[in-house]
Amino acid sequence: MKIEQSCVNEMISSGSIRITEFDHDEIGDNHLFTSIETPMRKDAFALSDHEKKQRIAHYFSEIMHTLGLDLSDDSLRGTPERVAKMYIDEIFSGLDPKNKPKVALFDNKYKYKQMLVEKDITFYSNCEHHFVPIIGKAHLAYFSKGKVIGLSKLNRLVQYYAQRPQVQERLTVQIGEELKSCLGTEDVAVVIDAKHLCVSARGIKDNDSATVTSYYGGRFLNESTKREFLDYLKF
Ligand SMILES: [Zn+2]
Repeated sequence: MKIEQSCVNEMISSGSIRITEFDHDEIGDNHLFTSIETPMRKDAFALSDHEKKQRIAHYFSEIMHTLGLDLSDDSLRGTPERVAKMYIDEIFSGLDPKNKPKVALFDNKYKYKQMLVEKDITFYSNCEHHFVPIIGKAHLAYFSKGKVIGLSKLNRLVQYYAQRPQVQERLTVQIGEELKSCLGTEDVAVVIDAKHLCVSARGIKDNDSATVTSYYGGRFLNESTKREFLDYLKF
């Protein structure tokens, strides 16, 4: 099925085509995604973090060995354990709900009624189709419904959802829905502008393109409110 990638996710969300019409190679190559929830197994947390690291280190050493690398070399010897630790403790730590940041809300004592924008939040994620980095900026905004959130917590929420194998559309929606639920308001906006190394460093090798995704709720669906937000971002 040959359809421009930029249109495909839109066609899926509008219901004009269904994800089941694609095979798994097409889904991966076109960076389609099958659900807003990160697809997890029911027994995802049956193993302890320590057991997961042991398994990942074992299988990663198999990959290196298969590639022909000499794991007895001093430079490579510790790599499987290092990768395993990095996967569990850092770059995929957002798969585990126990790592979700605790979000404390405060009363909006200043009675600030305007839009709050937190822009240029740098994040690092990984494409779930190729396991290579997605590097980008997230821009968030909301109107308070009586509660406000610590600014660094917005940053931490972005990092939490980024530290999973991801597709950019899902990352955007997950952050937007999290903001809605923790702030108790529909009035939230998220824009993500990111580079995908699976596009720049392999495949089409386009180093200049970037992908922009957005999520708007409540008052941000109003064109002038959306425009005010985008003006802060200079989009
Ligand atoms: Zn990819």
